[in-house]
Amino acid sequence: MLIVKKFGGTSVADKERIFNVANRCIEDYKKGHDVVVVLSAMGKQTDVLLEMANDINPNAPKRELDMLLTTGEQTSVALMAMAMHALGVPSISLNAFQVAMHTTSVAGNAKLIKIDKDRIRHELEQRKIVIVTGFQGICKYDDYTTLGRGGSDTTAVALAATLHADACEIYTDVDGVYTADPRIVEDAKKLDQITYDEMLELASFGAGVLHNRSVEMAKKYGVQLVVRSSLNTTEGTIVKEEVKMEKMLISGVASDKNVARIAVVGLEDQPGVAFKLFRHLANHNVNVDMILQSIGRDNTKDISFTVTEDMADVAVETVERHRSGSLKCQDVKVNKNVSKVSIVGAGMQTNPGVAAQMFEALYDANVNIQQISTSEIRVTVLIDEEDTNKAMNAVHKEFDF
Ligand code: ASP
Ligand code: MG
Repeated sequence: MLIVKKFGGTSVADKERIFNVANRCIEDYKKGHDVVVVLSAMGKQTDVLLEMANDINPNAPKRELDMLLTTGEQTSVALMAMAMHALGVPSISLNAFQVAMHTTSVAGNAKLIKIDKDRIRHELEQRKIVIVTGFQGICKYDDYTTLGRGGSDTTAVALAATLHADACEIYTDVDGVYTADPRIVEDAKKLDQITYDEMLELASFGAGVLHNRSVEMAKKYGVQLVVRSSLNTTEGTIVKEEVKMEKMLISGVASDKNVARIAVVGLEDQPGVAFKLFRHLANHNVNVDMILQSIGRDNTKDISFTVTEDMADVAVETVERHRSGSLKCQDVKVNKNVSKVSIVGAGMQTNPGVAAQMFEALYDANVNIQQISTSEIRVTVLIDEEDTNKAMNAVHKEFDF
């Protein structure tokens, strides 16, 4: 069997944990399996590096940021290989160059294009445990890139898909995927199974446990994932195409405080306005989420949308820049004190009233809804940031997990 095992930062935070991970990998290796290990940077190392960069130059070139951030993963893989050698097991660490993990050239948010298999295959044939840097890649200019925060999950899934692995295990510091963040909702429960689609919605709407692009890729290539703890042997949560849980209406509640709401007020009410607004934003790499357009009145209309907080200023500047030209409007407002609370569940497709039930729970908790968006299997509300935990608990209680 070929097993890809990915360990997050907390799982390799110090010497003791590095040896713990080494031993868990060696266990599989000794059973005769081929083992490929993907690691994140140790503990909060990525944040530490970002702070160092910010201290030197708050506007550091993105290329240099990637150059710096890739050292985090490089450190953890080298130390892991040393730990395995200390335990008498042959292993080798490889970075993005050595494997050759090819990505697009968008520094800080690169997408994997292709992973070369030869080097990894060769090392596995030598009966070595292969330890690969997560989160990083190389672009066509031979520069390092990174895949966006949390990107090591995506590296692991991409490797599993490329190598046709028999299992892809994502190890973290929690026991699996929960119905809500247990730090916010006390009686949150661990799920045994969840579908790709549900997991994708949960990951995209605030459940921090998996990088959303990793779930997208797992679905695309049919890579079944197991999310479990590196600190115990609890079963974990399986992420796959179909799950048998007919009674489960909702599989989870997620929240995301990293949201800002931008309102563009008094736009002209004519064709092409939304197109121009969102084209300008896309040109500045602003990812837009919940979009709301008002009904036109007196030849004007308002459009509001949400972005991640770090993109709020870019979004406002973009609109401001075009205000006197192609995007005539009366005002641009930004509110960073908002958050999103979402419920996700494949069951809602066939059960009416789920949204109403969520809204009722919010009403009972006296939480005001500013904006709503839905997909087939998700309902999201935008609310005051300070109401987040109250709303999470009220909604979780309502659905009686
Ligand atoms: N070390 C990177 C981060 O903190 C990647 C990862 O952990 O997945 O975002
Ligand atoms: Mg992560």
